[in-house]
Amino acid sequence: MRVALASFEFEGNTLSSQVHRRAEFARKVLAEGDDILPAIEGRDLAVAGAWEALRKEGLDVVPVLVAHGGSGGIVEGAFYRETFDKIVAGVLSQPVDGVFLALHGAMICEGENDPEGALIAALREVLGPGVPIAASLDLHAHVTPRMADNADILVGYETYPHIDAYGTGRRAAELLAATMHGRIRPVTRLKRIDALLPVAGGSTNGTAPMAEVRRLARLAESGGRALSASYFPVQPWLDIDDLGIAGVAVSDGDEDAADAVAKEMVLAMWDRRRDFEIPCRSPDDAIREAVRRPGRVLISDAPDCVGGGAPGDAPAVLAALLHAGLEVEAAVLVVDPDVAARAFALGIGQLIRVNVGSALDPRFHPPAEVDGVVESLHDGRFTYSGGISAGTPGNMGPTAVIRAGKLRVVVPTYATYEYGDEQYRAAGVDIGDCRIAVLKNPMNFRTLLDERTSWIMVGGAGPTTPDLASIEWRVKKRPFWPCDDQDNPVFMEPRRDN
Ligand SMILES: [Zn+2]
Repeated sequence: MRVALASFEFEGNTLSSQVHRRAEFARKVLAEGDDILPAIEGRDLAVAGAWEALRKEGLDVVPVLVAHGGSGGIVEGAFYRETFDKIVAGVLSQPVDGVFLALHGAMICEGENDPEGALIAALREVLGPGVPIAASLDLHAHVTPRMADNADILVGYETYPHIDAYGTGRRAAELLAATMHGRIRPVTRLKRIDALLPVAGGSTNGTAPMAEVRRLARLAESGGRALSASYFPVQPWLDIDDLGIAGVAVSDGDEDAADAVAKEMVLAMWDRRRDFEIPCRSPDDAIREAVRRPGRVLISDAPDCVGGGAPGDAPAVLAALLHAGLEVEAAVLVVDPDVAARAFALGIGQLIRVNVGSALDPRFHPPAEVDGVVESLHDGRFTYSGGISAGTPGNMGPTAVIRAGKLRVVVPTYATYEYGDEQYRAAGVDIGDCRIAVLKNPMNFRTLLDERTSWIMVGGAGPTTPDLASIEWRVKKRPFWPCDDQDNPVFMEPRRDN
């Protein structure tokens, strides 16, 4: 038996001005046919986990296309349609008995707010009801009824920080194989509540509210009520009308059980909704507090999270660091293609006076004036050490390090998803030697914490602002949590016992 395998992964953000086209995908993962295996082998991607599981089950894999674009605003309509058509044509190019898709689940395209639902529905239409379709999803997926109705199996990441893309691909593929071998008859159900949750409070570790949801999911599975239980606190920076936190369950032929477990997942998030809030400070306040503290302090520049779709070019924390006149070693990273090019043109050791930041999205902050020396220049290439991209190459393009007193400003050409400190290392900066280091994410910086390191989160405006109530929602209708205080959940799927 044959399984068609494809991926089309991208996390959208309607507050971001960034448009991702072929070039942005090509800098991450983009391959077709025979080029797919070399592009994914040995990497912790969901498609790689799926391929491994399908082969173990004795199934022939038909690789169609893999595309991983990271995060940004929207995907260009032409590239989306081209990729969509190639996946559908590739799946139809020979008879297949199953389809595996690795999706993020929160992609947004020009002209389409539910691109994954459109893709799964198109495949269902051409394949008919007899060919099972399984998809792996990011924990922040925007799962829609169209996705749940047309897929046989949907499985989301278990972890945030995400470390289980490979394992999620494997789990979804194992269920697909069991379906194809006739061992199970999967039924997938979705339950959503019209609410959003702050991403920064969504860790699945320790005593965080999502850790409890995670335990409940594993209990539902080990207790035999579901083959798979997933929870989706959702990518919240999508101003679209059909957005809410979700639970998804796959059962073996038992619709009621799938409904009940999906509902349990989403209600578990709703019940702890007040515990997701993380206190934030202004950039100036954060630097003052960091200087006061002993040990190393990581500053999370939450409103400019590249992994959430922001351009990584916000100079707000850089400006505060310059303003503070630091007497301790510090490092900050701000994407700015023009400044990187200028530093390369000048060369190492040369004086440089430039406006840094807000080059890609000028709406939120003025640039910061940096007066310093070009300390080093780099090609910006690195390999991810962990997370959903472990083993995958990263490319932030020509990257300059400008020293201004005790501060080193790392200036890449392109924004890249942050897992740990790969970007700093690629620029020759060891943030272990810094008293203050700025990371542009609200969660993954925690992978760098140790006993001598504390952290402070910065709030404010930006495409990934942690303050969801501060967003001017134009499309998504109020009232909804957390913009409005609500005592009772409003379910979005008007089915059964909701
Ligand atoms: Zn995610």
